[in-house]
Amino acid sequence: MGSPIRSTVRLAVAALGAGAVLLAAVPAGADAPPPGSPAPHGVEVEIPGPEQGGEAGSGHIHVPAAGRNKVPTGLSAAEREADGEVTKTVDNGPTADRLDVVVIGDGYTAAELGKFHDDARQKWAEVTAVEPYATYRNLFNVWTVDAVSRESGVSGDPDRATTRDTALGSYFWCEGVERLLCVDQPKVDAYVAKAPAADLVIVLSNSTKYGGAGYNEPNPTLGYEGISTASAGNAKSGQVAIHETGHSLGKLADEYFYPGTPGYEKYTGPETAEPNTSTLTADRMRDTRSKWYRWLGEQSPDGGTVGAYEGGGYYVTGLNRPTDNSIMRVLGKPFSLPGVEAMIAGFHRHAHTLTALTPTDRTLRTRDRAKISVPRLASADGRQLAVRWYLDGHELKRFAGRSDVRVGELSLSGGRTHKLTVTAEDRTPSVRDPKIAASLRTTVGWSVRR
Ligand SMILES: [Zn+2]
Repeated sequence: MGSPIRSTVRLAVAALGAGAVLLAAVPAGADAPPPGSPAPHGVEVEIPGPEQGGEAGSGHIHVPAAGRNKVPTGLSAAEREADGEVTKTVDNGPTADRLDVVVIGDGYTAAELGKFHDDARQKWAEVTAVEPYATYRNLFNVWTVDAVSRESGVSGDPDRATTRDTALGSYFWCEGVERLLCVDQPKVDAYVAKAPAADLVIVLSNSTKYGGAGYNEPNPTLGYEGISTASAGNAKSGQVAIHETGHSLGKLADEYFYPGTPGYEKYTGPETAEPNTSTLTADRMRDTRSKWYRWLGEQSPDGGTVGAYEGGGYYVTGLNRPTDNSIMRVLGKPFSLPGVEAMIAGFHRHAHTLTALTPTDRTLRTRDRAKISVPRLASADGRQLAVRWYLDGHELKRFAGRSDVRVGELSLSGGRTHKLTVTAEDRTPSVRDPKIAASLRTTVGWSVRR
């Protein structure tokens, strides 16, 4: 299930004539769709906002889990050979300690796999140009999985009637919405399963047409938090993918809303679970020390100061958002300060701040070294992770910042086993919540003996 607000708010979107879209509100908490709308089916996705207008999204809709495809003609022996190849495109360390992004292409023929790899690198460059991805880029691995399509391009591009024979059945005009780029989820999952431990999945369509979709239901079997679809050759489509990771990694709510849509005039439910929408005013947040009160009045990267701006979580009133125009409302904008904090928390849920290079399962003796590797941060101020060493719980200040320590340097007393531990901690000023701050460190330890 999605987060509480998104699971109780459903927009049934029906196509009218030539692609006009009717937004029909379902009362919060109601399971039955409004009369006349199709029964919910398949999976829930977020629809990106229109290309012009800036809105990050335009609601959620149930779409079929299956894709739309020409009758597949089957791969030749040579194509089968190329299909399913896994490449670690960005290697920042072991999968267990990094956030692993899996990129799969659709609508690339065997001859176009080189282009797919270029497109994957380009799309990752677009993502990591945005904070806090830029600072934390070395916490990520990027894997590509080659999916060979019989035909180049995807269905629904350039026009609605176009169908192509592609590996993942990607198609624009999903549920009648031109910019909604859906995929065949079981087919995507079959390729995801070839890569080790995906945390996040991006499906790139070999297209320049604006579009995307956010599949933000975590997959408990494969372990990923969500799938974003994007057009490889459309930069704005990359912004949709970043917005979607705001949901999947940051657990952030949408900050856009629907003026003039029945049912969305005023939110009257309980306080929301997400860190970026609230029923509270700024004064009330301060008084009760809740939600984003630690950021109130600060200058936010997306412009303006953090406050409680009316409207958010699809409602025009009754819910507030931290800033006027963060990426959770407007594509191409940065995350707000509370949004950055939530994203960093999400990164650290999957990534560790240090990796033990010396195995921790045996006792180290005088001549042995305890070695670690620590990812470099790429923040503008040059700040790095703080590395601290401890012997039997007492800090060894002289070793601070080192990535290896020789047991002979520890002046151990003989006759017993000691415990050597090392901690790498992210003391970023972008996190103010002590609970999140406490999650930004990793500790490993060894038994040591003279
Ligand atoms: Zn959204």
